[in-house]
Amino acid sequence: MTAVAEQATYINDQVIFDCLSHTAQPEPARVRAIFAKAREMQGLTFDEVATLIALQDPELTEELFHTARAVKEEIYGSRVVLFVPLYISNRCTNECSYCAYRASNKELKRVTLSQEEIAAETKAIEELGHKRILLLAGEAYPDHNSLDYIYKAIETIYATHSGNGEIRRVNVNIAPLAVEDFRNLKATGIGTYQCFQETYHRETYAKVHLHGKKIDYDWRTTVMDRAMEAGIDDLGIGPLLGIYDWRFEVLAMLQHIHHLEERFGCGPHTISVPRLEPASGTDFTATTPWKVSDADFLKLVAILRLTVPYTGMIMSTRETAEIRHKCLQLGISQMSAGSRTDPGGYERSKGDFYKAQFAVGETRSTDDIVREIAEMGFTPSFCTACYRLGRTGTDFMDVAKPGEIKYHCEPNALSTFTEYLEDYASPETKAAGEKLILTHIAEMDAKQQRIAKPMIAAVRSGKRDVYV
Ligand code: SAM
Ligand code: SF4
Repeated sequence: MTAVAEQATYINDQVIFDCLSHTAQPEPARVRAIFAKAREMQGLTFDEVATLIALQDPELTEELFHTARAVKEEIYGSRVVLFVPLYISNRCTNECSYCAYRASNKELKRVTLSQEEIAAETKAIEELGHKRILLLAGEAYPDHNSLDYIYKAIETIYATHSGNGEIRRVNVNIAPLAVEDFRNLKATGIGTYQCFQETYHRETYAKVHLHGKKIDYDWRTTVMDRAMEAGIDDLGIGPLLGIYDWRFEVLAMLQHIHHLEERFGCGPHTISVPRLEPASGTDFTATTPWKVSDADFLKLVAILRLTVPYTGMIMSTRETAEIRHKCLQLGISQMSAGSRTDPGGYERSKGDFYKAQFAVGETRSTDDIVREIAEMGFTPSFCTACYRLGRTGTDFMDVAKPGEIKYHCEPNALSTFTEYLEDYASPETKAAGEKLILTHIAEMDAKQQRIAKPMIAAVRSGKRDVYV
């Protein structure tokens, strides 16, 4: 293994700017050739992505959406994997201009949950029906939330059970670590390690990160190299949309993906596309010149779907129902549901803006969101099988690329959704869910049905955690 890069040499601003400024309105024939290639699900090159970014023509944009829908449907079917974020501490020594947790924010009530409080939060989350948690914290090591505290929190979450409830996968979004610390993090049994670059544009990065360890752009851009080096091959990346030009961020993220593929033989497992939300004590979100419009957001999701077809894409349920519906069709494969960004928010079951990282707490319940997704025709999935069967990194790609995924993910989605309907759903959600399951079984091929039907029957007869 070669030494870890200390400088983010893989981001080449000049190449990106040249590409963006030289790509004029593309010829329809060239665009349609790119769509045809995208349908083969082998991904797109840097120049092809830049060409799609330049697209303005409404008819071709509609064709872009159409192509993304076809690719999404072919690879992911109608599944949407659901998870819930768990914020365990809002203490932070950094000064990110857009985030309520930043050290200087006097409006924020600071809190670091004890292990007992983390267990109580976990129980409250399990009682909503979730099986997958994304753990988040500010960067305050070693004073308040040391790394040992984080490792212990993961242990607490896995050890907490409530009736049939259990958390089967803990993903983690915490600040970048050194290789040795990543090895310890891996030993706790995490699923995905996620870290957002915020912006890949070095100059803008320096302007918005004013103090603390996070000012080091290179430490952040090389974080996934260190995680890979430590043996964590299930990685989540993404820019925080609204800090800088989304067109630059997409191309820079592509350079990041190519770098990981070249160096480690495998890119990220997921890409997140969070848009900036209002946060207490800052007007950053209201005043940013780079706010991403709904139209550009949809385009970005569709382009990413074609660019890296086998990489999962995650969005927040804070997006409006209309945007969620469109994005699920265009390429989103994972969503958070029933989220709170204030530590302790689940147990009290009402948000507290003065502890929250951004936006007022979500008003709709997990059950409402699950029903809405089912009524849209998508299958809410609580599946955690791949990581527990070791299907991560290149192994996952081996399963995913030949299209085998539909014999694993579709049946697993239906069996975990059945579990949810049996144990947690309201009568209205149960009715909507049962209807959806019947429809989807009827649409499956014979092999899928042979796998899925006995799994659903086993769950209905009381068996839990049924997966292939
Ligand atoms: N503190 C760690 C870090 O910054 O990497 C990890 C946890 S932080 C709570 C997770 C992410 O929240 C950040 O990476 C950032 O992208 C996102 N975030 C911060 N402020 C936000 C805002 N106002 N709207 C939406 N997302 C925000
Ligand atoms: Fe702290 Fe992360 Fe918020 Fe920055 S984004 S202030 S590092 S919690």
